[in-house]
Amino acid sequence: MKTYDIFIIGAGINGAALAYALSQRGQKVLVFEQEGIASGGSGAAGAFINPKISKSGPLKELIEKAYCYSIDFYTQKFPQFTTAAPLLHIAKSEEENEKVEYFKAHTSLKTGRPAEATTALLTPYAASFSSVFLEESAIVEAKEVCSAMLKDVEYRKMKVERPLYNEGMWQIADAKAKKLVLCTGAFEEIFKEPYIKLRRIFGQRCEIKSATFMPDTIHHAVSVSATKKSGFISVGASHYLSEEDLLSDQAAAQELLRLARLSVRLEEVQVTQIYSGMRSGSNDYLPILGPMIPGEDTLAKTCYSECYMINGAGGYGFVLAPYLANLMTEHLLDAQELPEFLKPKRFHTRWAKKEARSL
Ligand SMILES: Cc1cc2nc3c(=O)[nH]c(=O)nc-3n(C[C@H](O)[C@H](O)[C@H](O)COP(=O)(O)OP(=O)(O)OC[C@H]3O[C@@H](n4cnc5c(N)ncnc54)[C@H](O)[C@@H]3O)c2cc1C
Repeated sequence: MKTYDIFIIGAGINGAALAYALSQRGQKVLVFEQEGIASGGSGAAGAFINPKISKSGPLKELIEKAYCYSIDFYTQKFPQFTTAAPLLHIAKSEEENEKVEYFKAHTSLKTGRPAEATTALLTPYAASFSSVFLEESAIVEAKEVCSAMLKDVEYRKMKVERPLYNEGMWQIADAKAKKLVLCTGAFEEIFKEPYIKLRRIFGQRCEIKSATFMPDTIHHAVSVSATKKSGFISVGASHYLSEEDLLSDQAAAQELLRLARLSVRLEEVQVTQIYSGMRSGSNDYLPILGPMIPGEDTLAKTCYSECYMINGAGGYGFVLAPYLANLMTEHLLDAQELPEFLKPKRFHTRWAKKEARSL
């Protein structure tokens, strides 16, 4: 039986970023993935690295920290898959104007003015809303960056059903490890816990070829941005609460282009690819990071032995993953405390109180 320090289940951006961080610290890691690298939500992502444009709050502050960390991380470690993409964020509605103005007035991030070529692309409708221009945003190539992170990590294509914990070790097939981290996104949970409710948010985006030159990224009704491939533009993504709401490829492309054209003048468009995927969000919109607690025992003070999760990143998985992976690595290897407000325990406490009341 082969022995590892840590098992990771799931090779999306969360699993890949964690495997990379741990292996950089000399850990022997084995990653299990049922389909292929970035075959879940990560493979569909436009993978914009941008902050949350809103008023203050724990999610906004967390994403801003992660954004600063991740911009440096991707630029330094994976420059070949990272494109600088200054971002013009435009309020989606009159009500959002206030949020954008508040953000602009209070942010310490580097803001500026978009290129004239960018403002010339805007429709009068888009130009009528408040906007903020962030100079340091980026886009990463989703699948390529996940594969590069896993290049020197042992990887096995296998669906994990229910790992066993015995004599201080997790066992999966013919391998053993001291610790287990679940990075399984919006897929069926391996340990179903009644207190963790993941919301599945489906989305589509498309890639188009166009004669229009996009110097910057524009986020308005949808995101419209240049990609690393010259002449290709990424448009999206949509948000649907049910898989049945996903549109056929043709209808999805039509709808995404309709939304893009509300903001940007696009010339000579040809749709080249449609991507569909699901994001996984938590009930309070914050990501979930930390040790799992077995829910059956409502008074449990203990956690599953050495079983952790990273999930619930919603639409910010690529922004959050390197930062969360670093927090988890420092927790696992250096016994650094994880932020309480991100631990699965926060849902467990609320759930246990409710269960106790109904007894
Ligand atoms: C259309 C779209 C656009 C998006 N755009 C952006 C963006 O611009 N910027 C951004 O930051 N985020 C974006 N996101 C969100 C981002 O993609 C997600 O937050 C991120 O992919 C979550 O990564 P993950 O690793 O947690 O999950 P996933 O990428 O879904 O990975 C989970 C993996 O676990 C595997 N798995 C599950 N169960 C098992 C099992 N039992 N055994 C083995 N393997 C298993 C799955 O096969 C999958 O590969 C977008 C998402 C979508 C859908």
